[in-house]
Amino acid sequence: MVSAGSDSDVFVIGGGPAGLAAALAARQRGFDVTVADSFAPPIDKPCGEGLMPDGIAALERLGVTIPGTEAHRFRGIRFVSSGMSAEAVFPHGFALGVRRTNLHRVMVEQAERAGVRFLWHAVVTGLHAEGVLVRGELVRARWIIGADGSTSLVRRWAGLDAHRRRDERYAFRRHYRVTPWSDFMELHWGAGCQVYVTPVSPQQVCVALISRDPALRLDEALQEFPEVTERLRGVEHGSVERGAMSVTRKLARVCKGRVALIGDASGGVDAITGEGLCLAFNQADLLADCLVREDLSRYQAGHRLLARRPVLMADLMLLLEQRDGLRQRVMKAFRSQPNLFAGMLATHVGAASPLDFATNGLALGWGLLTA
Ligand SMILES: Cc1cc2nc3c(=O)[nH]c(=O)nc-3n(C[C@H](O)[C@H](O)[C@H](O)COP(=O)(O)OP(=O)(O)OC[C@H]3O[C@@H](n4cnc5c(N)ncnc54)[C@H](O)[C@@H]3O)c2cc1C
Repeated sequence: MVSAGSDSDVFVIGGGPAGLAAALAARQRGFDVTVADSFAPPIDKPCGEGLMPDGIAALERLGVTIPGTEAHRFRGIRFVSSGMSAEAVFPHGFALGVRRTNLHRVMVEQAERAGVRFLWHAVVTGLHAEGVLVRGELVRARWIIGADGSTSLVRRWAGLDAHRRRDERYAFRRHYRVTPWSDFMELHWGAGCQVYVTPVSPQQVCVALISRDPALRLDEALQEFPEVTERLRGVEHGSVERGAMSVTRKLARVCKGRVALIGDASGGVDAITGEGLCLAFNQADLLADCLVREDLSRYQAGHRLLARRPVLMADLMLLLEQRDGLRQRVMKAFRSQPNLFAGMLATHVGAASPLDFATNGLALGWGLLTA
């Protein structure tokens, strides 16, 4: 650990996936970078632990490759709702189920190799005209990146809390020591909640619950999904149940002066999309380019553009969450015309053109009318 007194070109507050991505991207452009986090690696966090193909590509652009031993491949998404099931395969490549602790360790190792300085167990207590305060001590920095997660204090300190949209859901996750029964990530839709199952190793799956009920826990919710319950009956737990908020937030501004926000601190899409990590990795690349140009206004505009597709997909999925009848008709359309689901999945992972998206949207509309 370096002394908190060392100055930096870029100081990143928060060493989660977004902060590490920001640090890697800034190092790639030659900046001197320090990252501070209140915890120490490997840092865990409740998450569905799915990294979509576009997220893997974004991570590789930052110089990080997840070794096969640290993750588990899956080849598509399966929706299950009221006894009906529909699945689609990714148009290119595969996705990864990766334990958050493994992802964190691999990213930290790469950042250390790249020359990022780390301050672990270091709580940032405020901003200063010349930098940041770490445990009350000034560290000078030209740029400050707030990567301190969805309850970001940097956002408040910098006066960036004003938002245009905010929505919250409650999430819980637990791991189960069982051989994955599918090479798909499964999303099980229930009345008022969703459960998704991600294979994260040859011997383990991650099960995450999302709902609007703060009192609902996994054991109770799983009763609604007999197929999953049967698979998990008598299976040893691989972790304790942990909760988190899934927050959809659209900020009016994501940067001010020398401060820029990234990852969940800069807004967020509902966890159901499985796109939070990919979004953060892409923001990191964009932000580092803007730092080189000394122009954060480009980050403001680019950040909005990057969020557009994930936000659209989240809105579509939340519509299915709230309308059971519509969801059943979509399921029927996906089952009778598998290309529709494949087209939506291609859009979701950024592998479809706007024309493909429009064509697919029209086809889905027609499918709904005729389902
Ligand atoms: C239930 C659930 C399931 C999800 N599933 C998926 C999925 O399958 N795929 C996907 O891509 N995304 C998923 N997401 C979203 C994804 O988890 C987030 O987008 C991602 O964790 C954001 O990373 P981050 O680095 O911005 O924030 P965080 O991971 O929250 O990291 C913030 C860091 O900042 C540190 N920190 C905070 N304050 C300070 C301070 N004052 N000083 C120093 N350090 C500080 C914290 O210790 C923490 O390490 C899911 C989210 C939830 C809730």
